[in-house]
Amino acid sequence: MTTLLEVNNLKKHFPIKGGGIIPRKVGAVKAVDGVSFSVQKGETLGLVGESGCGKSTTGRAILNLINPSEGEVFYKGEDISKLKGEKLRKLRQNIQIIFQDPYASLNPRMTVEQIIEEPMKAFNTPKKERKEKVDYLLNRVGLSSYHKHRYPHQFSGGQRQRIGIARALTVNPDLIICDEPVSALDVSIQAQVVNLMEDLQEEFNLTYIFIAHDLSVVHHISDRVAVMYLGEIVEVGEVDELYSNPKHPYTQALLSAIPEANPHKKKERIMLEGDLPSPSIPPEGCKFHTRCPFAEEQCRVKHPELKSVAAGDHQAACHLVKEVVEAPV
Ligand code: SF4
Ligand code: MG
Repeated sequence: MTTLLEVNNLKKHFPIKGGGIIPRKVGAVKAVDGVSFSVQKGETLGLVGESGCGKSTTGRAILNLINPSEGEVFYKGEDISKLKGEKLRKLRQNIQIIFQDPYASLNPRMTVEQIIEEPMKAFNTPKKERKEKVDYLLNRVGLSSYHKHRYPHQFSGGQRQRIGIARALTVNPDLIICDEPVSALDVSIQAQVVNLMEDLQEEFNLTYIFIAHDLSVVHHISDRVAVMYLGEIVEVGEVDELYSNPKHPYTQALLSAIPEANPHKKKERIMLEGDLPSPSIPPEGCKFHTRCPFAEEQCRVKHPELKSVAAGDHQAACHLVKEVVEAPV
């Protein structure tokens, strides 16, 4: 396995400005607060957590759509977190993003052909090649060249997401950051789009970071999953291991909310007390302590770091979970 992307202590703090004639910084929303993970070539890393936990901001900070406040992002070994201008533009050929609301990201005054062609124009692809690629990709995502002279409003949500996917593929990216790509779609359509994304991953050798709050969708598509809470990763591991053997109390609570398909199997739902605290004044110590059913005195003062908690590089950040040190092979 080769590491394609490595994110190291990534932070994005949005300053909060106070009133007055000269606004001054009075605090910061710590949307992403020290996130580290790596993505292997060809895999899908699921990024889950409640809305407001920093998943989307993490995705955007990787691509430099918003500048990270701190930390590094290595793509194929090169730090891309501070790239600007032409170098950043070039990078965007390798890393693409697809959004939750394809409607908002498709220009309503452009035809589908113009929309899909646009990234190729920016990279100076010759016209003939552009036209051929539009036809090929439209067919490949389940639409047809017959659709290319239409406008975004003439399509359904699922079709618009297919157009967004086609556009992302035009420049042959390695990595696609998928920011809740199916959350706005009907359940039946979600499955079709997820299946399409899996087929395309194979055909085009793609690596995905798949951001979502729906744990069932993430289970289906991911190889590994990282769980975020208030701007931090609290647990990460291989998908089946993490879903069957969650170690962090927050992951346990999230997973307990997935409806059980087998009616004979009883599942106890862990209800979390209280609301998600504000990311501008996160709790001290373990950020989850205000809602954790197992919180102890040390949790209020000491911040837990990610550590190995089971075989296969399964990590969690909780004081009560025992560290497991794997024997060297
Ligand atoms: Fe709960 Fe403490 Fe573990 Fe945080 S460190 S998840 S508060 S038990
Ligand atoms: Mg989001």
